[in-house]
This record gives sequence, C-alpha cells and structure tokens, in this order.
Amino acid sequence: MSLFDTALIKKYDHSGPRYTSYPTANNFSEFSINEYQAQVEISNQNKRAISLYCHIPFCDTVCYYCGCNKVVTKDKTKAEPYLQRLFQEIELQAELFDQNHQVAQMHFGGGTPTFLSNEQIIRLSEKLQEAFNFSDKGEYSIEIDPRGVDEDTIKALAKARFNRVSLGVQDFDMDVQKAVNRVQSFAQTKAVVDLSRAHGFKSISIDLIYGLPKQSVQSFEATLEKVAELRPDRISLFNYAHLPELFKPQRRINILELPSADEKLAIFKFSMDFLLDQGYVYIGMDHFALPQDPLAIAQQQGELYRNFQGYSTHAQCDIVGLGLSAIGQVGDSFSQNEKDIVRYYAALDAGKLPIIKGQVINEDDKIRRAVIMDLICHFQLDFASIEWGFGIQFKSYFADELLRLGEMDADGLLALNENSIQVLDKGKLLIRNICMVFDAYLATSKTQFSKTI
Ligand code: SF4
Repeated sequence: MSLFDTALIKKYDHSGPRYTSYPTANNFSEFSINEYQAQVEISNQNKRAISLYCHIPFCDTVCYYCGCNKVVTKDKTKAEPYLQRLFQEIELQAELFDQNHQVAQMHFGGGTPTFLSNEQIIRLSEKLQEAFNFSDKGEYSIEIDPRGVDEDTIKALAKARFNRVSLGVQDFDMDVQKAVNRVQSFAQTKAVVDLSRAHGFKSISIDLIYGLPKQSVQSFEATLEKVAELRPDRISLFNYAHLPELFKPQRRINILELPSADEKLAIFKFSMDFLLDQGYVYIGMDHFALPQDPLAIAQQQGELYRNFQGYSTHAQCDIVGLGLSAIGQVGDSFSQNEKDIVRYYAALDAGKLPIIKGQVINEDDKIRRAVIMDLICHFQLDFASIEWGFGIQFKSYFADELLRLGEMDADGLLALNENSIQVLDKGKLLIRNICMVFDAYLATSKTQFSKTI
C-alpha cells in the first residue's frame, strides 16, 4: 500500500482541525447550566451509553513539547483538594443522569493521572462506580507516565477497574529526551508494559511524537525498533506542532535543533512504512493498531467513531467531561469546563457545575458531522446514507463542496462518483484536508491550527 506521496503532501501542506469533534472546540461560546440540563434530558430520553472522561491536570515535571492544559507541581498535597472538587462534580453530574444509562467507557487523562496516589486513583474510580451504572464489558483506560509507576500502581489500576493503559513515550533516544526534558529509559517503559500484560490489561497503547528536536530518520528508526519489541496493541504517532506563542513550555525548545521540514517528512514516511511492515493497520490521522485490536475491527465493521480522546470503538456514547477544562458531549451539545483552577474550585464550592462554554448543534452541524465522521473513520462516504439519515438531496446540499473536491479527485486523493466518495491511499494521510472542505466554520475561523501532516 502506498500512502505516501511527498509532492501531494507538500501541495496540501495547510493547517487544519483534528476533528475530534465537529463543530470544533474553538467554536464554543457561552453556555448556561440550564442549557446543559436541557441536553441531559435529551440524553435521558435516548438512554445512550455514557463515556466518562476525568481530567487530572497535575504533572511533576514539564515536557517542553507540551500543549496540554496542566498544572506543573511536585507538591502531591495539591491532589486531595482537587479530588474533593472532582467528587462534588461527579455528584452534581450523577444527579442529572438517570440510572438507565450504562457506562461503556471511562478514561482518565491529563496532565498525568498517575500523579494521584494509588489509593486516590482507586477512590476516584469507586466514586464514579457509586455514582454511575458501569457495564461489565466496558473499556476503562488510563494514561500513565512510566517514570512514576511500579507493580503496586499497576495492581491498583486493575483494582480500580482499568483494563487498558496508554503510555507516554514520544522517543527513546537519550539526546531527544534531554532536549524535551523527558528522560525515560527503555527499561522503565518495558517494565510497565510487562507488568500491565502480567496483570491482565487487555490493550496497551504507546504515544510517539515525530518532529522533536534532535530527531533524525536514523535516530527514530532505533526508537521504532524498540517500540516493535514491545509490540503495543495501538500506537499514536503525533506530529509535533511548534507553536511557542501559544504554548509556553515550547519556548524552551531550541528551534535550531528541530528537524527541517524535509527531514520531518522523511521521519514520518519512514515510520509509516516501518509500522505497516510490522503488521500494524493504519487507522487514520496519527493512529495505528494491530489487526486484532478492537479499533481495527471497529473500522472494518464500519463502527469506528472519533471523539475528544481520538478514535473510539463506541459510536453512540454521550461523554460526561469531569475535571479542569474537560469537554463533554451530551444530547445535541458540547460543553467545556472552566480552564482556570481557581475558578474551577470556586464554581464547585458554590455548588455549581463548572461548565463555562459549549454549543448546541443545529441540523446543518449534524449533517456535516456525519459526513466528516464517515470520511475520517472509514475513508468512504455513501451519499445515500446521509440522504436517508437527514432527508436531504446530497448532491444539491453539497453542490459547492463537491465542486471543490474536483481538484483532489484529479490529484488522486479521492474517487468522486455519482453516489459516493472513496478516499484513495494517497488521500488517507490528507484526510483532514478532505474533511475541511465540509467544515462550514473554517472560512471565518481565527484559530491557529496545527499542520495537517
Ligand atoms: S506532555 Fe503530558 S506529562 Fe508532559 S507536561 Fe504535558 S501533560 Fe504533563
């Protein structure tokens, strides 16, 4: 399979959203608690399964490439006051949802969720299980920093009901690790992978980043060889976006040490070929999975979905976002919590949910979201399915968009015919560019997005 066409990638080298939602989070505006409650009512009537997202914002050191919402501190006593507010938030949210909803997914992200002690992680999970109705077959995942994890932590995670772990690695090369202030040996990572497998975790995921300072094709090949030895079920290969004006820690990266645009592209091409050669399936965007992984199976069966945590096997979940800056997706709405920790605490101390922004999506948003989801998850769009789902005439509704796809059709990114759009191999890496054609908000957006490759 030839996914990589350097000339086309350079031609379509634009910035654009990652479509973890449509409309994207930069479009959210003022959103009241009353509006949120009305959306929970819709969710209660639909009885959709629930996905719980818990954001733990603390990290004890800062990685210079970081673009996340986090609080850097070595002071572990900061965790308990945060947990108290999180527990209040869980109670406020649980009061709104009726018990007919089953929790099909739980995810702890950050920051660094393992900043919490083992006892705190178990307590938080138990609090969620008291408040919501958990499925026996759910996917319960947590992001872990292998530098601070031992066998007791892994046992605690299993006790807290987690069955999937996601490990931050980024790169195994010591020079790269020093340049980004994240020194983490292969031995540390391997020990955590082995322990997770020994304690019955069903899926192990590893995050990598290309485009970091001091990286070269040669150095990254050595990293990929080590990753192959660990054989994780899923691999995320993120593109480092250097935006120091937006993300303060990135100002500590020496731009002279960053790989050139050509070298970066070469690293990406090499990685892509390497992972496919190792038997991984390209899921889309920056994700790879082993063929037997549920993500690859969901894609094959047309059940893959994309949400704020990336690709997901559960299409029809409402997401309850808990914690600082967490994003929820309930009923026909998106909502986002306060990003400032003082204001987040103040809202909960006043007995209020800390939701500050959001958006109720309209019919046009729903139609475009369905189109973008089909393209980004399955690389295919049948006009009939959208016409059937929304009662529109696809070709007249999207006449302008279909015209704009003509150039991509001519470039071999996709095959546009009377009834469908099929994304071809060369277009798979440029899927964000294809989706952007259907994004009604992009023309007026002032947001600075990352490069699509
Ligand atoms: S990359 Fe992750 S671990 Fe590193 S500072 Fe950012 S949130 Fe913390």
